[in-house]
Amino acid sequence: MGASAAGLAAVETLRREGYDGTLTMIGAETHAPYDRPPLSKQILASEWEHDRLALRSSGDLDALDLDLRLGTAATGLDLEGRAVVLADGTRAAYDGLIVATGVRPRRLPGEGDAHVLRTLDDALALRDRLAEGRRLVVVGAGFLGAEAAAVARGLGAEVTLLEPAPVPLGHAVGNEVGRVLAAAHLEHGVDLRTGVGVAAVTEAGVRLADGELVEADEVLVAIGSLPNTEWLAESGLTVGDGVVCDEYCEAVWGPPGRRLGESTRPGTSPAGSTRCSGCRCASSTVRTPPSRVWPSPATSSARRRASRSLRCHTSGPTSTT
Ligand SMILES: Cc1cc2nc3c(=O)[nH]c(=O)nc-3n(C[C@H](O)[C@H](O)[C@H](O)COP(=O)(O)OP(=O)(O)OC[C@H]3O[C@@H](n4cnc5c(N)ncnc54)[C@H](O)[C@@H]3O)c2cc1C
Repeated sequence: MGASAAGLAAVETLRREGYDGTLTMIGAETHAPYDRPPLSKQILASEWEHDRLALRSSGDLDALDLDLRLGTAATGLDLEGRAVVLADGTRAAYDGLIVATGVRPRRLPGEGDAHVLRTLDDALALRDRLAEGRRLVVVGAGFLGAEAAAVARGLGAEVTLLEPAPVPLGHAVGNEVGRVLAAAHLEHGVDLRTGVGVAAVTEAGVRLADGELVEADEVLVAIGSLPNTEWLAESGLTVGDGVVCDEYCEAVWGPPGRRLGESTRPGTSPAGSTRCSGCRCASSTVRTPPSRVWPSPATSSARRRASRSLRCHTSGPTSTT
């Protein structure tokens, strides 16, 4: 589940490791897997057409011999029945399941319309609204907010960048480098305001925690992300800040309160389990009883290699992105 970087890396790894069974990749977006980093850079700046984002050509996707279903969201997971429940009411049966449904942007409360920047459609919607003299308020000066602010300023927009921390990106790059980045924003005419909390998005802009209204034509909220795990909520999988996994990236499941790593059913990994720390991309594998070894007929060492490969290809710290 999930037809983006992680899902693609998983199906490519499986084919490379010799899996020749049916592979179904299902994603909520209508686009074939595409690269997100250019969204806040070349796409927002109108330097690239979006057809450059494709992670693989249609020929490469065809060569994977996938049952590729786009524009189809999962709404539930039936572990016992070994099927994903889809928004169109159908079910996708599986022997092995890879959860690669990623994250979505956190939002602010309020009545006003605000942009977020996660998908190609988000980027195109924001790009359409940016122009010389337009007033853009960006909430959050993490990597994504800082990039969008810089690009918008380059397009001639009047940009206000709001950040609750005293130094932007101090937590990620240290205060010394953060201060250099802050100076660069100011030099380029971005109105960077640090130590500022935002309470809500309004029709007129954003309301700060101290009550001040910062007026804007457009608001971009870039305050981090949340894992897309709602569809797993009733499944029995252990879900915290993402899918809780063991050391093989295999999802932990069972009755609430079960100790991590304590296998209650045949076919689950019995080894000491850990949360996929540093992995908030909601990517993991699920095996349900009676379960064939996954990916069949691989050996456990191949499975470990596939799990490691998944972790390496898909699980970078997400921070604000
Ligand atoms: C604007 C932007 C800029 C970035 N810049 C950088 C950068 O410069 N460097 C860097 O290293 N990283 C960057 N990143 C982060 C990088 O893009 C992510 O780490 C990467 O996309 C994670 O891939 P993923 O497949 O795990 O999840 P995602 O890309 O989030 O993909 C998950 C997919 O699952 C789908 N999905 C979600 N829920 C469901 C459901 N219920 N049913 C079916 N499908 C579902 C989603 O629609 C999505 O297509 C950036 C991200 C963004 C948004």
